[in-house]
Amino acid sequence: MSKLRFKVVEEAFKKRPVEVKAPAERPSEYFAKYVFNWEKMFKYLPLSTYKQLRQAIEQGTPLTMAVADEVAKGMKKWAMEMGATHCTHWFQPLTEGTAEKHDAFVEHDWKGGMVENFSGKELVQQEPDASSFPNGGIRSTFEARGYSAWDPSSPVFIIEDTLMIPTVFISYTGEALDYKAPLKKALAALDKAAVAVARYFDPNVKRVTVNLGWEQEYFLVDEGLYAARPDLLLTGRTLMGHESSKNQQMEDHYFGAIPERVAEFMRDLEIQALELGIPCKTRHNEVAPNQFELAPIFEECNLAVDHNMLIMSLMRKVARKHGFRCLLHEKPFAGINGSGKHNNWSMTTDTGTLLHAPGKTPEEHLRFITFVVETLMGVYRHNGLLKASIMSATNAHRLGANEAPPAIISSFLGAQVSELLQRVADSTGDELFTMEGKHGVKLDIPQIPELMIDNTDRNRTSPFAFTGNRFEFRAVGSIANCASAMIALNTAVAEALTDFSQRVDALVDGGMERLKAILTVLREDIKTCSPIHFDGNGYSDEWKAEAERRGLDCETSCPLIFDRYLDESTIRMFESMHVMNRHELEARNEIKWETYYKKIQIESRVLGDLCMNHIIPVATKYQSELADNVHKIQCAFADTQRVAALTNYNITLIEKINKHTDFIAEAVEEMVEKRKVVNRIEDVRSKAIAYHDEIAPFLDTIRYHIDKLELIVEDEMWTLPKYRELLFIR
Ligand code: ADP
Ligand code: MG
Repeated sequence: MSKLRFKVVEEAFKKRPVEVKAPAERPSEYFAKYVFNWEKMFKYLPLSTYKQLRQAIEQGTPLTMAVADEVAKGMKKWAMEMGATHCTHWFQPLTEGTAEKHDAFVEHDWKGGMVENFSGKELVQQEPDASSFPNGGIRSTFEARGYSAWDPSSPVFIIEDTLMIPTVFISYTGEALDYKAPLKKALAALDKAAVAVARYFDPNVKRVTVNLGWEQEYFLVDEGLYAARPDLLLTGRTLMGHESSKNQQMEDHYFGAIPERVAEFMRDLEIQALELGIPCKTRHNEVAPNQFELAPIFEECNLAVDHNMLIMSLMRKVARKHGFRCLLHEKPFAGINGSGKHNNWSMTTDTGTLLHAPGKTPEEHLRFITFVVETLMGVYRHNGLLKASIMSATNAHRLGANEAPPAIISSFLGAQVSELLQRVADSTGDELFTMEGKHGVKLDIPQIPELMIDNTDRNRTSPFAFTGNRFEFRAVGSIANCASAMIALNTAVAEALTDFSQRVDALVDGGMERLKAILTVLREDIKTCSPIHFDGNGYSDEWKAEAERRGLDCETSCPLIFDRYLDESTIRMFESMHVMNRHELEARNEIKWETYYKKIQIESRVLGDLCMNHIIPVATKYQSELADNVHKIQCAFADTQRVAALTNYNITLIEKINKHTDFIAEAVEEMVEKRKVVNRIEDVRSKAIAYHDEIAPFLDTIRYHIDKLELIVEDEMWTLPKYRELLFIR
């Protein structure tokens, strides 16, 4: 083992868990300790301010600057009592992660000193020097104004000494430069469209809220081993590394006991997350070695998105404290499962849920059917866009591999819901249908009580599966901002619901009874969207062929998938729902293509460097040792036949090494030359396509030869930590 690798492996083995002191109180007592929630608003704000703020948050009424000033005063008082000295607008630019710019709570007192101050204006609006955030040309640098504006619906919180204020980030022309602004518009569009439909069944409905429960998957790798892998450090994934002899084939990791060092990390993470108001609920091992999952209880979609962004940055921070690095890349290791982030999505009204399967009355069933069918309509019409919304250079490695949803969007409903829809579609009169609810299963095991078994079955291979009271969008990538998928999904469903109510209302205006009108439109829609419904095995090759026949989007090239954002049907949808305009969509696609090609460019550079500085030198050194041995044998024995027999194996190895190093050296040179050509392409879309078609394939072919060398070269000489070390040391 090379000296460095030996050292880091030895150190990793020696590491003990960092003990976490649990707070004295119970989680219910420290939950949201660092959040300015209702309880604190009530305590720190004048009653009239509290009421106005609450109304603004719950009903969307505008806030005056006078109220904002009062809110800021209360916030400052609380924040200073908690030890905060700074505040920042916290926003989600179109890169990975979040951005912030800290300002101290100070002002001149105009007597030569300073006073602590924080005004309503600072709370409501700031102007970060934003020219360095991607904007796809919306903001040319001479007018590099970007404004961040307070989002009162997501409460402010404190991290260390800073009061964090969730904000949207927009250009001075009002166009979105972030994820939050269009997300909030999409949620408002869905609210409006869904309320109109929900009122057919219950005229008292005032508001429809979207819920999101994300399940965050991630890998942990010992920090020392990570630092010895330049590819992990620079690209977030391993660009080389032969599969470990044992990886996940025994399936012994999933739901296995959580290793001690990891358990302490999780405890620490959960305590900190709970203090920040993130309602963590579930933690477990995932399928691959060193892979884990964390899921909170679902929340309102906008808040859930913020909490997911927060947890990702918390994970990275807490991992380092425990001597780990947290890998959020969708596919850090080849040959084993990658990481996703299931987005559990549902809608609720202020009077009840909309997707909960078995309602009590036939009318409730009809409402359930309506919302399921119109969700499917949205997903069907925009299946290509939904795929684009979860696609990225990193997630492309995961989709379509035999572990994650295929790169085709379809929806699983399960036998019961499928049958229910079929009955509606086949019916002719205006009879209503019901399906059975949960049923008890009596177990013949002493002392074990009866189990309530859900009527909805499960299908792990479906990218958009109905799971009893929600849809689970499973194709979202682990590092992604959930907002991207949520913007597309909520807008698509809003459009479908709007279209639905327009057709129902037209029939009613023409004299048809409302119930009959609803059934008539539903029958039509169930047939129209049937191509999206697929309950079979999404991993199978037959499905790919079948999906193509059904006309679903089967494109697999990431830069081409992004084109779906600029389809006329997409632009029409976003514009008519008032979520984004053509210009914003065009600008955002520029960023997508640019991010895509830059990622491949960096990977290709890192791989080239590693080949020339690590792989070829190490392989050549080992080859020289083998040649040395051959030479010594030749000197020691006179009998040529004997020499041939004794050197045969090593000579074969020498030749094999040569074959691989030659291939690598040539391919790297060719890749560098191609890159030079491709880099000259001006148009960013064409450049992304060229990177996909011409550069990315080198990453795989070169890797193949490196991994072969890893098997040949003596272990002691190999400089880079191997998969078995990265994946099994914890
Ligand atoms: P799985 O079996 O898919 O791993 P988990 O129970 O681990 O499911 O996680 C499911 C996630 O779905 C949790 O975040 C949970 O809060 C969320 N969830 C449950 N019900 C709903 C709902 N009606 N709407 C949205 N999310 C939900
Ligand atoms: Mg799930």
